[in-house]
Amino acid sequence: MVLLLFLFPIDIVAKIINGRVVGPHKRGGDMLFLFGLRRKAKVLGQIDQSCSKCGRQTVHSAIESQRWFTMFFIPVIPLAKSYAVRCNLCGLTLTGSPELKAQLSSRALAAKA
Ligand SMILES: [Zn+2]
Repeated sequence: MVLLLFLFPIDIVAKIINGRVVGPHKRGGDMLFLFGLRRKAKVLGQIDQSCSKCGRQTVHSAIESQRWFTMFFIPVIPLAKSYAVRCNLCGLTLTGSPELKAQLSSRALAAKA
């Protein structure tokens, strides 16, 4: 998790929000903002395929990770999504494509039918 810490004087924040100039004699206290970036990952499903590193036919985990812009540690704005496939035996992680999710859902539907 990346954490960015900004300390803005409150009169600058008031200028930005209200669009008006506050005199330097009216300077108030300082305001603290905690911005950051956070990545959340979830396993979409399992794929049975051969691994290019360990060379064995094994189960791989399809992982979707979403990057978030956070404010005070709360995810506010979703940023880029990325996909990966990880070997459950050796841990080799390869980048996947967004079509991975569609492929897994179509396989799940085919298994139910
Ligand atoms: Zn492997």
